[in-house]
Amino acid sequence: MTLPRLLASWAILAAILPGLFGPDTARAAEPSPDPGISALTRAGLAEVTALAPSIRLDMRYATTNNFTGQAVYPSGRCFLRQEAAARLAAVQADLRARGLGLVLYDCYRPFSVQKIFWELTPDKGYVGRPVEEGGKPVSGSKHNRGMAVDAGLVDGEGRALPMPTNFDDFSPRASRTFTGGDPKAAANSRLLAEVMARHGFRPISSEWWHFDADGWKACPLLDLPLPPGK
Ligand SMILES: [Zn+2]
Repeated sequence: MTLPRLLASWAILAAILPGLFGPDTARAAEPSPDPGISALTRAGLAEVTALAPSIRLDMRYATTNNFTGQAVYPSGRCFLRQEAAARLAAVQADLRARGLGLVLYDCYRPFSVQKIFWELTPDKGYVGRPVEEGGKPVSGSKHNRGMAVDAGLVDGEGRALPMPTNFDDFSPRASRTFTGGDPKAAANSRLLAEVMARHGFRPISSEWWHFDADGWKACPLLDLPLPPGK
């Protein structure tokens, strides 16, 4: 084949190929969905603010403003198991009817982050101990299952209401049984616990901010990374 003929053949091929392969080529060129989110969605997690955009987020472990003094994950976004996220949206609707709302401090937390917490605070009273067998997580925090959330209350303007302590204050004052604090803060804590319990979130005694979602036992411990972003 002479060079001009060869070039002509290529020109014909080039004209035909897009017709033959155009649709597939176009599909391949489409931007793929965020792979971090896809993995979380496949694992049964949902982004809470997609269901309840008015919920305020103050994800402390994405900042240095937490008990570790360091950012332990790159994401200011909140993910929970789909069923827990839907129930939290119902909590928010309930609170909004009273002119209040939720602020969230921590939601799904990867198992590897749990290991960092345990290294820094090896105290079962405050941190779920991460245990692995054969390289697989077998015990940890309900946060690692996407079935626990750390929450406080805000007013209609999004300002945090007084609570018995700061978030993450691992002291006896954070306990639900502590009686020596500000009565207004204690009342806010009780109100939060009442509304959360109505929608299937159980308070624990040692931390006013922590709630376990009913059904957590059936949900696996996960170590999928959180996607970056606010
Ligand atoms: Zn918690």
